This record gives sequence, C-alpha cells and structure tokens, in this order.
Amino acid sequence: MRSDCNALQWISWFLSSKGNEYFCEVEEDYILDRFNLTGLNTEVANYSQALDLITDNLEDDDVQDELRGSLDVQARLLYGLIHARWIVTVRGLSKMLDKYKRADFGRCPRVFCQSQPLLPVGLTDVPYEKSVKLYCGRCEDIYSPKSSRHGSIDGAYFGTTFPHLMFLVYPHLIPPKANPSDPARGDGRAEDWAKGVRRRGSTREDEVVAEGAAEGLSTATAALKAERYRPKIFGFQVNEIAKLQRWQEAVRDKQIARLEELEYS
Ligand SMILES: [Zn+2]
Repeated sequence: MRSDCNALQWISWFLSSKGNEYFCEVEEDYILDRFNLTGLNTEVANYSQALDLITDNLEDDDVQDELRGSLDVQARLLYGLIHARWIVTVRGLSKMLDKYKRADFGRCPRVFCQSQPLLPVGLTDVPYEKSVKLYCGRCEDIYSPKSSRHGSIDGAYFGTTFPHLMFLVYPHLIPPKANPSDPARGDGRAEDWAKGVRRRGSTREDEVVAEGAAEGLSTATAALKAERYRPKIFGFQVNEIAKLQRWQEAVRDKQIARLEELEYS
C-alpha cells in the first residue's frame, strides 16, 4: 500500500502523459470511498484489478503478461468514468476552474468570442460513443479540439453536465454576451460593413438564399438541416438557454414559412 504518498503514482503518470492535459487530478479520498464508484464495476472489465492499478495497489506478480495491456485500457476507462463524476463535485469543479483560468482547454476560435477560454463537454455520458468537445460560454456553441490527441479522448470522461454546472455554481464566470469593446458593436466597424453591403444592393439574407439555391436546396430546407447544441445539466435542458432557444426556434420557423412562401409562389 503506497497511499501514504502525496499523490498516487499511476494518476501522476497518467496526468503527465501527452494528450491527457484536459484531465484533472481526482483526489485519492474520492477514489477510495467506494460509494463514489457505485455501478462502475459493471462498466469496467477486471474492475478490481483496474482499481488496484490506478490506486497503486496492484502487485506485479498478480497479473499475467497478456492481461497487462488490456488492464491498462480498463484502468484508463475507470479513471475517465471516475473523473466524470469527480468534476461535478465541489472540489472537482474548483480543480477544473483552475485549469479553465489557465485556458488549458484552449480558446474559442470564433472571432467575436475574443479568445474566450473553453470547457470540455461530452455529448453523451455513455463511454465509447462520442469524443470530447469544447464548449464556449460566450457563443454557447461547441467545437472539436484542435489537436487529434485531444480529439480522440472519450467525451464520457467529462460528461454532458460539467461546463453548465460550472457556470451555475460560478455565475460570475458567465461571459457577457455583448462587450462594449466587441468589434460587432463598440467601434461600429461591423455596422459600417453591413451598410456597405446594403449599399451594394445585397443583404445577408440574399446571400443565404443564393447559397442555398446554388446547391439546389431551398433556404427553408437548409435552415431546417442546421443542428443545434443544447446544454444540459443531469439530462435537463438549462432553463434560461432553453427559453431563449424556444424563442429563437419560433422566430426561425416563422422565417422559414416566409421563405417558403417567397420561393414557391
Ligand atoms: Zn465562442
């Protein structure tokens, strides 16, 4: 038993491995409290040996060579699933907050988001289904990680709830939707650009119609195809955003009906 060490060795090794930069350290106390691991024994093969491995309790002669490789895979899966539970606890959230403040998860590629730091999110809580995505609190959209090393991490190791719970617990971190220094507002350059476009006799709506027409699609069909990201906390849609999305969808539906009238009349 090496639990008298400050940090568990397997976990330190795992966290320092290239590509694992999104993960934070799950505290030993949390892992050793079996209540926190309820149900994971049905999701991980060789569960107790995998648990022994990540808690540094596995004796080398306990394992045959052929099992070693698969045990490593199971240990990563187990750590990932524990990690998803840990980061929605008070202590786990605060560890991820430190990483967020250092922008360990990268920054939003959207220009108007002004390098807003991102947070990892899963599209499902079931492992082996979807890789991890990055959520931007400013534009409320999700992105794929830039590096393929991060792009292949299982999204279930972060879960669908984490970033939304983070903003619920730390509401002062919610980025403002419009910033006085936003290029879209403050200096009026975007407005000038829009005026210029209008003067040239083309509006964005025209351009969108033209793009749709070029592909032989009606604008209405193109609009209906657009998928939206829906933030969820423990499976429930986040209230304020859900309200806003319902309103946006009502406006969109109205607009689609108008377009259909125009295009098919
Ligand atoms: Zn963004």
